[in-house]
Amino acid sequence: MQKEKQGDLLDSIDYSTIVETNEDAKDGQNKCPKCGSTDISLNIHSGRLRCNFCRFELEPQPLDDFAEDFNHLRGKKISSGAKNIKKDDHQVITLKCSSCGSEVVIDTTSQVQARCHWCRSILSINHQVPNGIVPDAVLPFQVSKEEAKKQIEKFVGKRRFFANPQFKKEFTTQNIMGVYFPYMVVDMNSHANFSGQGEKLIRQYTRGNERNRQTYYDADLYHLEREFDLKIQGLTLESSKDRLNKNAVDKTNNVINAIMPFDTEKCVKWDANYLRGYTSEKRDINIEQLESIVEEQSKDIARFSANTTLEEYTRGVCWSKEEFSIQGQRWKSAYLPVWLYSYQQIKGKQKILHYVAVNARTKETMGSIPIHMSKLLFCSFFIEILGILAMFFVDFDYSWLFLFVGFFYYFFMYMKYRNRNARHQYEIETKTNVEHVRKVDQFLQRKTGLTNSKMIGANNTCLHGENLKKGILDILE
Ligand SMILES: [Zn+2]
Ligand SMILES: [Zn+2]
Repeated sequence: MQKEKQGDLLDSIDYSTIVETNEDAKDGQNKCPKCGSTDISLNIHSGRLRCNFCRFELEPQPLDDFAEDFNHLRGKKISSGAKNIKKDDHQVITLKCSSCGSEVVIDTTSQVQARCHWCRSILSINHQVPNGIVPDAVLPFQVSKEEAKKQIEKFVGKRRFFANPQFKKEFTTQNIMGVYFPYMVVDMNSHANFSGQGEKLIRQYTRGNERNRQTYYDADLYHLEREFDLKIQGLTLESSKDRLNKNAVDKTNNVINAIMPFDTEKCVKWDANYLRGYTSEKRDINIEQLESIVEEQSKDIARFSANTTLEEYTRGVCWSKEEFSIQGQRWKSAYLPVWLYSYQQIKGKQKILHYVAVNARTKETMGSIPIHMSKLLFCSFFIEILGILAMFFVDFDYSWLFLFVGFFYYFFMYMKYRNRNARHQYEIETKTNVEHVRKVDQFLQRKTGLTNSKMIGANNTCLHGENLKKGILDILE
């Protein structure tokens, strides 16, 4: 066993332990314990698997989670379903039907179930084929197709005026799809140590005459230190390359990212029957590729967690030293449920796949709607003209602002329809627990007559964005 010492995290994650989540799984028939039928699927209302023959409901199997307590999580634990993908593993598996003895072929590149063509029994892949198709856990669909349709119609309904006419004509929620997307879910025990300076606003006032008025600020400058233990629960990452590429120009993947978070603590143990009636996408990314992203996101989470102890520093905090160490981490792979509407817009040679996605647990909805550009440009132009007129006729100190009103309108509408900036705010939406906080708040000096409204160099509400981008680009290459 390695010595547990706060701070020497990076050394301690060199070794990893595989935790079996699927030890005694055998492929073949998943039978109803009451009547023996293999016709079993999810009852969305109860969240349980139900026998479609005798209506018996099976008790969900909790994920054989690491038995040890979160507090004692040390080193790196990997659930067996999150192990590295073997590219050339035999993907076509032949199963013997236990009812009639015939052989049934399942191509595990795309399927985890098949029906025996002789006796109609359903055969399932239960063991973790090392090609990424069988995860440790599944989060069952909870939002019905009808509810998802309503959500999507509501979302689109609010964005009709500037919607592309072709889209308006073709829009229907008839063929929305329930998709299980692959994710990695990470729990982490970490330690953060920050030091720097922060400013509290004392007063704000204006000087000068009518024509030349200037706002000034007085602030108290403090030396600050914050050190704490941080537990991060259920940090969730896309684990298919296609989905991870949130800046893709041909697909609006960012809107699928934006419907996170999921209640991943409700995940249940893998059973192929949860996928019946839904489609799924296979994982094609390994843990080592996601590690740098997880570390960057965790640092962001640590920074934002510190902010809960910094509320009086309204002008901001500038951290000059930030130490972050991971004492323990555990990884599992999971399928999470999404209702997806997609629409392909063809603009000359360019094709854009627009999505409207609904989180099938929380109903959170986000989407991208193709825009009728000439209409939006015309309206923005018209508003711009009104703005210019207003600039001449309205008596207002900042009347030059009217000069931009058309541009603002265009930008606002574009964002409302396309949501290009929508994303999951993992830094504040991930579940965390901050403990054993050590605080230093040492008054340094009062500064008067400052002209900037925020502290210069404040970084406590910024993300470590650049490294994160690089981590994603490395995977996509
Ligand atoms: Zn039954
Ligand atoms: Zn059979």
